[in-house]
Amino acid sequence: MEKKQEKKKLGLTTLIFISLLLGAGFGIILHYWIPEGYVRDTVIINGVFYVVGNGFLRAMQMLVVPLVFCSIVCGSMSIGDTKTLGKVGVKAMGFYLVTTALAITLALSVANLIDPGVGMDVSSLETAEVAEAAENISFADTLLNIIPKNPIQGLAEGNMLQIIFFAIFVGILLAKRGERSAAVAQFFSQFNDLMMDMTMAVMKAAPIGVFCLIAKTFAGIGFDAFLPMLKYMAAVFLALMLQGFGVYQILLKLLTGLNPIKFIKKFFPVMAFAFSTATSNATIPLSIETLDKKMGVSKRISSFTIPLGATINMDGTAIMQGVAVVFVSQAFGIPLTLTDYLTVIATATIASIGTAGVPSVGLITLSMVFTSVGLPVEGIALIMGIDRILDMTRTAVNITGDAVCTTIIAHQNKELRREVYERMEQKGE
Ligand code: ASP
Repeated sequence: MEKKQEKKKLGLTTLIFISLLLGAGFGIILHYWIPEGYVRDTVIINGVFYVVGNGFLRAMQMLVVPLVFCSIVCGSMSIGDTKTLGKVGVKAMGFYLVTTALAITLALSVANLIDPGVGMDVSSLETAEVAEAAENISFADTLLNIIPKNPIQGLAEGNMLQIIFFAIFVGILLAKRGERSAAVAQFFSQFNDLMMDMTMAVMKAAPIGVFCLIAKTFAGIGFDAFLPMLKYMAAVFLALMLQGFGVYQILLKLLTGLNPIKFIKKFFPVMAFAFSTATSNATIPLSIETLDKKMGVSKRISSFTIPLGATINMDGTAIMQGVAVVFVSQAFGIPLTLTDYLTVIATATIASIGTAGVPSVGLITLSMVFTSVGLPVEGIALIMGIDRILDMTRTAVNITGDAVCTTIIAHQNKELRREVYERMEQKGE
């Protein structure tokens, strides 16, 4: 009986993988071979797929705010001293910024090799669609906004940086108060465990949820829209792959000596989840849990660095933005200078910090990057139609960057249980 149960649990990764493929295949069949109509569109795509897929996604999102809050309180409480906390924070920020800058540089190089925009016809471009650019908030206000005027409002709005700020404060003081606040401390730690159990319970539905989300996406887009954009997509995919399976894994190997293949295998379900939902934020609970259970990364580290990364570290998004810059500059025949490229590296790094971990926001912050080097914001309309599939892929890279950084910091802070990392699950995992 136990064995049977174990087998079932170990198969989740495989099941998710199969769902991804089946979902994509089924979606494409629906798009091309099943005639439009009530049954296909209303019942299947916008009925069953929409409800089941989004129900699963919402169930994961439901856990994000309480989990992030409790796990940061617990994490900072158990670290206790502000010095170590500060060090972890500074290291994570540094790592996030450097990898983002690397990612854009890689994207610019790949794009210049592939020349995605050469020969592109932009004459039919409708310019109305992309009227609103991202609103410009000053840097000072962005910083100030980290301090919540009302923490309950911050929680209600899911403002990640405000939640992180308040939770760290609570955690540090709880550690200082020790026995005098034992009941509150215990409450948070038990609530945290409860949220983790809920994460795993919701993940049981992942194969079905992932199938529905992917099938709905592919049923909607098919291949036709992709054709004129193949070079652009190829450049983004290539740069994303190089970042996800090259840059990160080299950094992991160099800085920790850990086996990157094991990392990819163990982390795959999280990538698949991020891919099918295109939402970094919703991935936070699963990421923390997977790092803890499968890779031996202590929650004392991951509880800070994962939510922080999901909020400010978007290397995949930065890659899309880098390639988009080259694409649009070529399509519109606006040559870019070296200074322009440096400006793009700087602005796309900032844009990636400002990109929220939800679908499509990378497209909105892209306008900031375009404006910085005088490219027409209308260019965004060119890539809008096919962005979803890239959004899915870049989100998987976004959260992989957070996890690699977390693993490296945990290793450096002796918060990594190597025996857990080395242990390879049995077949099926
Ligand atoms: N969907 C991305 C994320 O959640 C953000 C974006 O690039 O649009 O990480």
